[in-house]
Amino acid sequence: MREIRLYNTLTNRLEPLDPLHPGEVRIYTCGPTVYASAHIGNFRTFVFQDILRRFLRSQGYRVLQVMNVTDVDDRIIHSAAAAGIGIREYTDKYIRAFLEDIDALGIEMPEELVRATDHIEDMVTLIEKLQQKGFTYTTDGSIYFRISKFPEYGKLSKIDLSGIQPGARVDVDQYDKENARDFALWKAPKPGEHFWETRIGPGRPGWHVECSAMSMKYLGDTLDIHTGGVDLAFPHHENEIAQSEAATGKPFVRMWLHAEHLIIEGQKMSKSLGNFYTLRDLFAKGHKPSTIRFLLLSVPYRRQLNFTEDGLMQARSSVERLRNFVTRLKAEQFAAGSNREVERLVETAENEFEAGLANDINTAVALASVFDFVRDANTAMDRGTFLEQDAPRAVAAMEKFDAVLAVLADRDDETLAKLGFSRPNQRMPAAEIEALIGERIAAKKSRNFQRADEIRQKLADSGIVVEDTKDGTVRWKYK
Ligand code: AMP
Ligand code: ZN
Repeated sequence: MREIRLYNTLTNRLEPLDPLHPGEVRIYTCGPTVYASAHIGNFRTFVFQDILRRFLRSQGYRVLQVMNVTDVDDRIIHSAAAAGIGIREYTDKYIRAFLEDIDALGIEMPEELVRATDHIEDMVTLIEKLQQKGFTYTTDGSIYFRISKFPEYGKLSKIDLSGIQPGARVDVDQYDKENARDFALWKAPKPGEHFWETRIGPGRPGWHVECSAMSMKYLGDTLDIHTGGVDLAFPHHENEIAQSEAATGKPFVRMWLHAEHLIIEGQKMSKSLGNFYTLRDLFAKGHKPSTIRFLLLSVPYRRQLNFTEDGLMQARSSVERLRNFVTRLKAEQFAAGSNREVERLVETAENEFEAGLANDINTAVALASVFDFVRDANTAMDRGTFLEQDAPRAVAAMEKFDAVLAVLADRDDETLAKLGFSRPNQRMPAAEIEALIGERIAAKKSRNFQRADEIRQKLADSGIVVEDTKDGTVRWKYK
């Protein structure tokens, strides 16, 4: 197996992946907090995790990925109360929307998608363990983790604890480094709030304990990889480490991977700032699922992704270029034989694609190798040096790339229709257009220009614009 190196936030170094269970990588992913629809910033992180798992699988690993759904936290409790319904009812609709969204984006379902409210018992057991080991104290019915009892507190986010007052507490789920304090594992019920009656008293779990309990339940005490956006490193992941390692005495996570933010006009896209687009906002503006997926995956995960309209347009034409190339590969007639040069192009592309991803999931390098290949193969086709037996090899390479990228198969219209975004007028289906384009290329090649013109006219009459590009590929789009 090729060595895969990933950047570990815990050590601030690139490290080789070395799973605890040979051949299997166990990953925990902090999932959505379902108090509103996820925005495309969230999906930047989820798409990164999808690329990671797809790449690992393409390299022959089994993947066991657990993603939680936070369906109880401060914001959910307040929003559900404001809507006058229970938290389960309130969160159900956002979970459904999330599942539709990940499907639209071609994000594979994790092996386990687990709801926090189905795991209260596991959280209670973990808190009891921490109580027995003396890491907690109780004030007014709420149970806190005493960070001064865990000397390694701060090792992930590298915070300086020297100014921290022992015993000072924080009750909210989200807070910043300046407010590093003892945090709530279990919160006593407030009037009118949803609570559970348990062995450790009535109340509800804090946000952090949820991920510790669920990750260790499904993946064991020590996980290979834990992922999330950079905003989660502190306090969420720091607190997860403290709770888990204090309870088990073992390392909790071997590699922490954090995705940088998607930003818009210089600011993090976030629900609280209100500067966000949901997927459906973008579909309503006419953008396709594959365009958004491509845009989100195109920037390596440790770089910020600046979201712009221009970026969307480029992503759209990149996907079209890849799809048109595969159409050409399948439709065009090539002279018999195979060309060693083309074979070498395929090998180089496959090798560089994998090497790019193996180097900390560098999608920019991986994509560059794909587009270089598309350009060079198109040139070979134009020159007549691309031969019949080269085509299936090139198609196989594109399929290999797409096992990770997942943008080639055109599910866009189907997905949009499913979500109620079908376009009003009946359009010629993509497959039919591509078949006609293939026929037109073949007609031009055999110098049957009359037929080629007829096809161009037919496509134009159906509202399809065909563009012959300089490098010999054919692009098309709906007018
Ligand atoms: P949440 O639903 O807020 O818990 O977030 C779900 C995931 O999205 C977490 O991994 C966050 O770190 C991540 N996230 C939130 N905002 C952004 C953003 N603007 N760009 C990238 N990831 C984000
Ligand atoms: Zn989490």
